[in-house]
Amino acid sequence: MNRIDPDFKEKLKPFGIGNWNECYHCGNCTATCPHTEEGFLFPRKGIRSIQLGLADSIHNNVDPWLCYYCGDCSETCPRNANPGELMMTLRRYLTTVYDWTGLARILYTSFPALIIAFVLVALSIIGVGFLKNFDRIAIMEFGHKFEFFAILSVAVIILLPNILRMLWFTLVKEKVKAPFFFYITGFVDLIVHMFTQKKTLKCEENKLQWFEHFILVLGYLLLLFTTVFLNWFGTENLYIVTTGYSVGAITFVITFLFIIRRIRKKSELSKFSHPSDWLFIIWLFLMGLTAFLVRVFIDLNIIGNHLWLYLVHLIILAQWAVLIVPFGKWTHFLYRSFAIYIAKIKKENLIKHIDKELVTVTT
Ligand code: SF4
Ligand code: SF4
Repeated sequence: MNRIDPDFKEKLKPFGIGNWNECYHCGNCTATCPHTEEGFLFPRKGIRSIQLGLADSIHNNVDPWLCYYCGDCSETCPRNANPGELMMTLRRYLTTVYDWTGLARILYTSFPALIIAFVLVALSIIGVGFLKNFDRIAIMEFGHKFEFFAILSVAVIILLPNILRMLWFTLVKEKVKAPFFFYITGFVDLIVHMFTQKKTLKCEENKLQWFEHFILVLGYLLLLFTTVFLNWFGTENLYIVTTGYSVGAITFVITFLFIIRRIRKKSELSKFSHPSDWLFIIWLFLMGLTAFLVRVFIDLNIIGNHLWLYLVHLIILAQWAVLIVPFGKWTHFLYRSFAIYIAKIKKENLIKHIDKELVTVTT
């Protein structure tokens, strides 16, 4: 049963724009949206749920994750309600609903808490520097191990339980059932989508955006692989060094273009930026850039006299790994892919129910 939360609209305000009352339900946005379909009618339905304070209906739904922010709905909304950004607001909010630690909510809703968290992580890395007597080899060894353990711990302790919570809200609580076969084949869609985000191509205007995003995801994952598993900063292997340079450059060049786009605010996607959007894109840019420069300094044999550069890189990396990846916008990459999986199972459940009702009506 859905309980009404009269303060729900207020609770959503820190996550983005708060003009939920602008919408008068003409339905234009849903008609325009290239991603909406039977069983997943958005964005109007979600806006209605917010206006009525139906928090559970938002928690149990994956609709916001099926929106790819092409902006068509916002462009054509007669009330300038910006439904595209309202969907984005819901995605930020849902990130905090799935997070079992409660830290995502604190970091999304309190700017001072966010600053304190970033400063604490920076101070911890500087503390490690002191403990290691600012010895270059010892600090770089620590940095290399840290990357590996941070990825593993965040995945096991935070992201995995959060995914299970997402499945709990959207499938178990909703008593959704589909043939076992779909639970397995859905995973293929999940993986394909995770790495290609190919559904973005349904949006007419988004072809270039899809390509840039695809290259960025590829560059980011390869940068991670090269530094963590191939020890980019510690190798002399020409192939690894060149690959590291290339993927580092891809990461900071594309993110720089994204930053410029957000500053110019020309497309619907970049007209409104929440602090979490800025953090994500700026930190990814800084990570690519500092990683690239560290390797340049290693190759010029001057990193020993400029250890500060490696420490800056390590601070940015640590803030990214323990704050942005588990609690910030990075999680969208994961939740959206699982939403594709959940939507597939929900669709099968819906078809099963329709078939059952048809049999009842015809007998
Ligand atoms: S958000 Fe705009 S386009 Fe969508 S139903 Fe409301 S008023 Fe109509
Ligand atoms: S931004 Fe695009 S994908 Fe998202 S709801 Fe609007 S029309 Fe649909």
